[in-house]
Amino acid sequence: MQKNWVIGFARIGEQRELKKALESFWSEKTGFSELEQTAKELKKRHWNYQKETGIGYISSNDFSYYDNMLDLAVAFEAVPKRFEGLSGEELYFSMARGNKDAVAMEMTKWFNTNYHYIVPELSLNDKYKLNASKIVNEYKEAKENGIKPKINIIGPVTFLGMSKRVDRGDTFELFTKILPLYKELIKELSNLDDEITLQIDEPYFVKDLDSKVLSLIKPAYDELANVAKNVKIAVVTYFESANDAVQVLVNTPVWAIGLDFVYGKENVDTVELIAKSGKKLIAGIVDGRNIWKNNIDKSVEFLNNLKIDKGNVIVSTSCSLLHVPYTLKYEEKLDSELKSWLSFGLEKLDELNIITKLYHQIELNEKEKAIYEENKTANKNRLTSSTIHDTDVQNRLKNITKYERADIFEERIKTQHEILNYPVLATTTIGSFPQTQELRQIRRDYKKGEVSKEEYEAKIKEYIDECIVFQEEIGLDVLVHGEPERNDMVEYFGEQLKGFGFTQNGWVQSYGSRCVKPPFIYGDVSRPKSMTLDWTTYAQSKTQKIVKGMLTGPVTILNWSFVRDDMPRSEVSKQIALAIADEVNDLQKAGIKIIQVDEAAFKEGYPLKASKIPEYESWAVRDFKLAVSPAYKETQIHTHMCYSEFNDIIKTIEAMDADVISIETARSGNELLKIFAKVGYKQEVGPGVYDIHSPRVPPKDEIKEQIKALLEVLPKEQLWINPDCGLKTRKWDEVKPSLKNMVEAVKEIREELR
Ligand code: GLN
Ligand code: ZN
Repeated sequence: MQKNWVIGFARIGEQRELKKALESFWSEKTGFSELEQTAKELKKRHWNYQKETGIGYISSNDFSYYDNMLDLAVAFEAVPKRFEGLSGEELYFSMARGNKDAVAMEMTKWFNTNYHYIVPELSLNDKYKLNASKIVNEYKEAKENGIKPKINIIGPVTFLGMSKRVDRGDTFELFTKILPLYKELIKELSNLDDEITLQIDEPYFVKDLDSKVLSLIKPAYDELANVAKNVKIAVVTYFESANDAVQVLVNTPVWAIGLDFVYGKENVDTVELIAKSGKKLIAGIVDGRNIWKNNIDKSVEFLNNLKIDKGNVIVSTSCSLLHVPYTLKYEEKLDSELKSWLSFGLEKLDELNIITKLYHQIELNEKEKAIYEENKTANKNRLTSSTIHDTDVQNRLKNITKYERADIFEERIKTQHEILNYPVLATTTIGSFPQTQELRQIRRDYKKGEVSKEEYEAKIKEYIDECIVFQEEIGLDVLVHGEPERNDMVEYFGEQLKGFGFTQNGWVQSYGSRCVKPPFIYGDVSRPKSMTLDWTTYAQSKTQKIVKGMLTGPVTILNWSFVRDDMPRSEVSKQIALAIADEVNDLQKAGIKIIQVDEAAFKEGYPLKASKIPEYESWAVRDFKLAVSPAYKETQIHTHMCYSEFNDIIKTIEAMDADVISIETARSGNELLKIFAKVGYKQEVGPGVYDIHSPRVPPKDEIKEQIKALLEVLPKEQLWINPDCGLKTRKWDEVKPSLKNMVEAVKEIREELR
């Protein structure tokens, strides 16, 4: 049925087969041909799944060994100089992961998802050339498997908008260099078949487009759509509304326009325009980035209300299914009620198929009927289920009276200095210490019930003891317990909070072979009992020095989870904030004097459109402050953020009103710190003085230089000295000398300052 469309499908495999094959190839356990074989099987399987379900437009070239932006850079032979001389898979994986001579290309987040793409490095002087073999081969491969696929390709505006210039300057200046490659590609594809459907992904169109970028769209798509009569071009957008771009696109000869109706409500405003243009509308209605069952009846009703001829509507996923787990079928342990509300990649195919049929009044077969009935029942039960709705939480939310700490910063910090009595350039770490193999093993065994609680706790305490002894030995000022009991900073809290669910196999690709398994928030959130108190007070009992308590903040917990869709995110965030507030209070009552509330993912939650940022900032700041609102004047609140670019958001960061913030500046010297001075930032700051993402041990003198650079920007009274993130991914024999050097460096600088 050529009436529905899947923007793209997960490639990692339902059992993460691609991950395993990649890692085995990288570690030279298997050769490239084995990896190719796995890839072939995976593609075949995911094509077949789609075909069997009744999907009309199935993609080719949505597969990738690592990343689709990287694939396109390679197809354009946009290879950075440092990889010259390499070819084939060696070149490809070197670009992605680096090799002994050359660092990897930069990786960054794909729009506001948790997927990371490889950032192409372009320059005005480089020569680009088309090599379409991967795209062509995947098309042929699909046909050999009995499928006539559409071909996916990232569009020119998005490709340039998401790339960087190594020669500085605006990537869009390269537009006239890149566009001919697209034309050549379309020409080449036109020879493959009588008719080709080409999906050109332009998610960049949902950003705030300036007039310069907008002016590129019409000439580009006029040209591309005229290259070959037999290549039908569908420009698809996702993650937000694309109204400005659509107003231009309707005046080009493209065949179809794809809109995301799940995350871009405003997209309905351009439907009539598209209708008038006679183009096809690819209507993204099945959520490609969240895991809840679609409300099929509502979706059909929504489609019926669109002011466009049904014959011109192709029902679609909102974006690629890359962003959701593959299938529910391996979830054996999940509570059956919870499971009945969920829908992963394969299940979404069924939804898409059923919505399409109902919309076109095509009769459902028995299997589809059953799924449709289940869908109605599940959605009905979810409205009232006591598993979700907790009146205590709701009442507490309604009656919040205290949204922030009682005292202003200037008074708090004075009291804190008197009580905590820490020196200038106080040294600390971000929380975690190395996660050894042994630690992971004992946590796993404990979870499986293979070791007793006593044995597990003894092991964790032993680790904490060692951490404390080590930190005292080298002379750090503020200590941590090391987080040995946590396998992930969100999962650890989610597992102890009511309202959070976990899957066994809900893996989503984060980058390359790396997958994450986010928790999902299905119901009202509360904290049945304290989550970190015992470990933190245990650590504190072992030392005279101050041990800093470690919590994950509400915004980060939210941003790294799948969030319920029956309540605004801001409400869910508020519920989490109250749970964290309870923990803050327990810790300080038990004598913990410094508490760090990590907001590693605060920046990740920013909306794609500037007009929506103030709303996000207002509740995100509100909830951070709510989470720390019980803190007494003398309890010092720290926060940590895993990035360094604060230029746009410095006022918001200041408004969070943490007493101390640690940030990730190590790789940028003192450049990025300047904004703190420029705006007259009051609170204390701990800029990372060395990069924990590398195994390298920073020499003492290098750290001293770094500290001196920081002192050029902020006064010593305002500075803390710490690594730039948690140490859990490092080895002890890297961490020990590094921290020792850090503390030594500070001692010498203090001497010099005297
Ligand atoms: N406290 C956490 C740790 O040290 C923070 C991790 C992070 O910022 N990503 O591991
Ligand atoms: Zn960090």
